[in-house]
Amino acid sequence: MNAAEPLEPWDVHNRKLHANVHPADWVNPKPAAKYNLVVIGGGTAGLVTAAGAAGLGAKVALIERHLLGGDCLNVGCVPSKAIIRAARAVAEVRRAGDFGVRVGGEVKVDFAAVMERMRRLRADISPHDSAARFRELGVDVFIGGGKFTGRDTVQVGGQTLRFVHAVIATGARAAAPAIPGLDTVPYLTNETLFSLTELPKRLAVIGAGPIGCEMAQSFARFGSEVYLVESTGGVLPREDRDAAGLLQAALVRDGVKLLGGGKNLRLAKTPEGVRLLVESQGRDHDLVVDQLLVAVGRAPNVEDLGLETAGVEFGKKGVVVDDCLRTTNPRVFACGDICSPYKFTHAADFMARIVIQNALFKGRKKASALTIPWCTYTSPEIAHVGLEPREAKAKGIALDTFTQEMGKVDRAILDGEDEGFVRIHVRKGTDEILGATIVATHAGDMIGEVSLAMTAGIGLGSIAGAIHPYPTQAEAIRKTGDLYNRTRLTPFVKTLFAKWLAWQRR
Ligand SMILES: Cc1cc2nc3c(=O)[nH]c(=O)nc-3n(C[C@H](O)[C@H](O)[C@H](O)COP(=O)(O)OP(=O)(O)OC[C@H]3O[C@@H](n4cnc5c(N)ncnc54)[C@H](O)[C@@H]3O)c2cc1C
Repeated sequence: MNAAEPLEPWDVHNRKLHANVHPADWVNPKPAAKYNLVVIGGGTAGLVTAAGAAGLGAKVALIERHLLGGDCLNVGCVPSKAIIRAARAVAEVRRAGDFGVRVGGEVKVDFAAVMERMRRLRADISPHDSAARFRELGVDVFIGGGKFTGRDTVQVGGQTLRFVHAVIATGARAAAPAIPGLDTVPYLTNETLFSLTELPKRLAVIGAGPIGCEMAQSFARFGSEVYLVESTGGVLPREDRDAAGLLQAALVRDGVKLLGGGKNLRLAKTPEGVRLLVESQGRDHDLVVDQLLVAVGRAPNVEDLGLETAGVEFGKKGVVVDDCLRTTNPRVFACGDICSPYKFTHAADFMARIVIQNALFKGRKKASALTIPWCTYTSPEIAHVGLEPREAKAKGIALDTFTQEMGKVDRAILDGEDEGFVRIHVRKGTDEILGATIVATHAGDMIGEVSLAMTAGIGLGSIAGAIHPYPTQAEAIRKTGDLYNRTRLTPFVKTLFAKWLAWQRR
């Protein structure tokens, strides 16, 4: 979405959204003589920084050039998860027969209604990020583009704000990959996808990362003919390969046509739509689609910020920060997608908390100390936290790995959701949890328990000792602890037990 072009205002829900996150009649305040903190960017990172700092009594200015709430509220987590929920409803109705429920006739998807629901829910959530709420919290909210004019000054809407510290929280946007012909064809990104009102009959999705997989599955469930093109030889390249394999099979079951290991992708405009030429699995594919979604990579919003003037170093990956999230200008910090490889809302949130402590109170909190889980919200969900075996190997860390199949968890069987596993990696010979992957219907909710254990230093053996209600899918995590505990029953201990029990029978 172009900063100058807010989401289409034709819709009543979007008008409500805008009234909250980009009010047309907003008058910027008269700047204070000096701010403790000037925050540029009003996405999750900027909002959390501004609210937290103001709550502690700091004089704070928040600058947003487009929509408060940033990607997450407007064109990211919120709209995508609303759509995924609707797609899951379609899938559930289609398989109702598995549960002995007969649903008569063909399942019809009213795509316009799906998108209307999404816009309504997004608008309903938006007061939390609104300009009015932040003003009530004591934050001076400025609508406009923020730009450094010196090492301790920022300009917005012709006014100059002086600061003790500033925070760059300008996030990232969809990157345009170097695909021959891309510049000649119309295409969607996350910035425009959620404005669709008609279901594309044929949709090609380029990129099989989290966004590509989530949207490919959802649109296939709605009834689009979906082609998912990826070049790395498998979906979700960062994830455990067994997890990715299960998702790949699920996508295919949902009707997604996977063009894996795609090479020599070329695009061209035709009267019927966008033509894709690609080599995949030794075959040439030539297809035409009505819509193309590009979901590969993110580019940091570093332009027009006056970073050189402020003495803030940046590169292709965004603003350069040290482990305390300080930039090369000691007065200026950064947090969120603009400086982090962990491009998640919850990561932006927790980085913002670090920045508040380090900027306002000379803290030494470190981003590297954060335990950051993440989840891809497909069916099944794929959630991960901590180290993967290949990363551990690269770092010279030996692991023991315990895997509990969901197929042996009663609740998962009863729910008809028995595909997947809980896999937990511990430091070899100990129960110290170093990483985990969960594939399950509610993996995103389940990974929180492992994340808590890692953060609090709770070992896998202790998880086995925590009673989980029966029957729940989270029991799979406790059972993984049981698997670990069984390894403590060494042949020597077994012999001792046998002797003790035999002595009792004497
Ligand atoms: C389709 C999609 C789905 C996603 N789903 C999830 C999910 O399920 N879970 C999850 O954790 N994460 C998800 N994410 C990622 C998540 O949205 C981001 O990690 C999060 O929004 C980052 O927050 P941020 O504040 O760093 O940046 P942003 O949200 O990008 O906010 C940056 C803000 O800065 C503003 N800005 C930029 N330059 C200037 C300037 N010069 N002056 C003033 N303002 C400026 C921008 O307009 C923007 O509002 C998803 C992302 C996408 C695209």
